Amino acid sequence: MSVSTEHRTHSDFPTSFRGAVLRPGDDQYDAARELYQGRAADEGPALIAQCADEEDVAAVLRYASARTVPVAVRGGGHGSDGYAMPGGALVIDLSAMRAVTVDPDTRVVRAQPGVKLGEMDAAAQQHGLAVPAGTVSSTGVSGLTLGGGIGYLMRRYGATVDNLLACDMVTVDGRKVRADVTENPELFWALRGGGGNFGVVTSFEYRAHPVGPEVVAGQLIFPYDQAAAVLGKLSAHLAAAPRELGLLVAIAPAPPLPMLPEEVHGKPALILVVVHTGETATAHEVVEPLAALGRPLANLVTKTTWVQANSMLDAVAPYGMRMNLRGGYLSTLSGDAVEVLLEHVATVQADPGDIYSINLSFMGGAISEDVDEDAMAFSRAGAAWLWEAICKWDAPESDARYDEWATDLTEAMRPHALTNGYANLTDDLGEEWRRGLHGGAAKHRRLRSVKAAWDPHNLLRFNKNIAPEVTD
Ligand SMILES: Cc1cc2nc3c(=O)[nH]c(=O)nc-3n(C[C@H](O)[C@H](O)[C@H](O)COP(=O)(O)OP(=O)(O)OC[C@H]3O[C@@H](n4cnc5c(N)ncnc54)[C@H](O)[C@@H]3O)c2cc1C
Repeated sequence: MSVSTEHRTHSDFPTSFRGAVLRPGDDQYDAARELYQGRAADEGPALIAQCADEEDVAAVLRYASARTVPVAVRGGGHGSDGYAMPGGALVIDLSAMRAVTVDPDTRVVRAQPGVKLGEMDAAAQQHGLAVPAGTVSSTGVSGLTLGGGIGYLMRRYGATVDNLLACDMVTVDGRKVRADVTENPELFWALRGGGGNFGVVTSFEYRAHPVGPEVVAGQLIFPYDQAAAVLGKLSAHLAAAPRELGLLVAIAPAPPLPMLPEEVHGKPALILVVVHTGETATAHEVVEPLAALGRPLANLVTKTTWVQANSMLDAVAPYGMRMNLRGGYLSTLSGDAVEVLLEHVATVQADPGDIYSINLSFMGGAISEDVDEDAMAFSRAGAAWLWEAICKWDAPESDARYDEWATDLTEAMRPHALTNGYANLTDDLGEEWRRGLHGGAAKHRRLRSVKAAWDPHNLLRFNKNIAPEVTD
């Protein structure tokens, strides 16, 4: 993971900038450069511009454009590639722009780019609403939305981008524009899944939906020796699943809970993470048959709140560890694909304190059926499941071992995976992979021409980069 750039001191950085300007050695610099991806801390950026408002964002972009200096953008800091703080780079840090407002009458939620998912959930739930988004509350709305956004509500209400109504954006030359279905519609098409390639988004406007506050959620924990059998039955069982069922399957070490036998603590187990947002009175009709797919060691599914359900994975998502992330779409959960995943889980060499998990997110419903594949850059064609492997560790000496494991797994999954994919839940796998990510060649060409129109010199290149059409 190396995203270094030419080091500059930026001694001519604009004095009109109102937020904090942090350089190596400044008091707040080390705290400001910390990202979810701990490996990013190996090399610091040249200057972090902590923007107070969109005027500040425009000032940095005008400065960068005039000198053709590439710019990195930090939203919530969860990007696994660490592109938000590249070594030697000029960084637009949006984390201080944290306002979120909810209009209960129109059910429109507006979030600034430093807002985290937990903050948006908390604000929307005050009115019994939620915006479909991700499953860990420290994740930023920014990167998640621009890449797509999937979570427990995707089957019921679609991906985050399916619920995005508009964006305010600052262009690379410092102009403020709006993008929605009528104003700059081509830009809006690209912003919904094309990542941070086109400009810096300073406000997101979402359609929220009634959710909770009471939901039925929790984990069904099966022993590892039942994993193949349960997974083998799962797809057929879920064929008639209601859209109100959100399901993430984790093949991961069993937590040290008192209700689990001690001998399984820390050993791989099959965990069905269930979030049912429909009628609580009838949720058991959905949950009990899932439990009956095997003989669970524990059934922790219970009535809870949406906010608690949508943050239950926070405990396994600590900030700042070294990590890697791989994943892709599956058209079906075949026995062969399951075998590859189970075989690889069994070969992880984890040190005490390390964290690993192979996850399978169940798609279908609104995300798969309600939106046309060509309606936006985000691709979901043919995807019934998303597989994802995440490893986290602290020792730099373990980097090579975990990277090799992740590469082996990715190669072994390639014959089972689709060529399109979800940009946010995998590390950047290079140019050829990025070409297929959004679907067919026509979508990739369309993204390149939007990139050429809005960022012809590729100043926004620290991302899952779409090269401007003009450079080929
Ligand atoms: C623990 C964990 C859990 C996750 N869970 C989910 C999940 O449930 N569902 C899901 O869909 N994804 C999930 N993700 C993936 C997540 O969507 C991506 O990591 C996403 O990039 C995070 O956005 P961020 O703003 O926090 O990250 P950042 O690292 O700040 O941003 C990522 C990139 O987005 C671009 N960017 C950010 N903000 C802007 C902006 N305002 N304008 C222009 N470009 C911008 C930049 O290129 C930046 O490098 C998870 C990731 C982690 C680490």
